[in-house]
Amino acid sequence: MNTSDDEWKLKLNPEQYKVLRQCGTEPPFSGKYVNHKEDGTYVCAGCGNELFTSDTKYDSRSGWPAFWNKVSEESVTIKEDRSLGMKRIEVLCKKCGGHLGHVFEDGPQPTGLRYCINSAALDFKEKNE
Ligand code: FE
Repeated sequence: MNTSDDEWKLKLNPEQYKVLRQCGTEPPFSGKYVNHKEDGTYVCAGCGNELFTSDTKYDSRSGWPAFWNKVSEESVTIKEDRSLGMKRIEVLCKKCGGHLGHVFEDGPQPTGLRYCINSAALDFKEKNE
């Protein structure tokens, strides 16, 4: 996908734009999906790519939605992030390149991963829709 910055500004609300296109982080416990427990699929708020399912969502108590796995190899890509004096692994949407959050290795089994994702980067599709 080749969407220009101006197009993203029109397509996304300011919160989504800040996270997805400017690598922003929403304040902890502020996002709409932190305590969200419905059955369904979380998709990229920028392009609709399927990212995570409710089956892998868990309460990490960090203040952001957390998942222990991605939907598929087409969901996300990762990149080293050395901003803010830390070494972290950034998680991006594989389809549109939007910033989603970070992944850490302190998650539950079977993956041991914690995808720590901003609510603003997500939209939710209910299972029966
Ligand atoms: Fe996307």
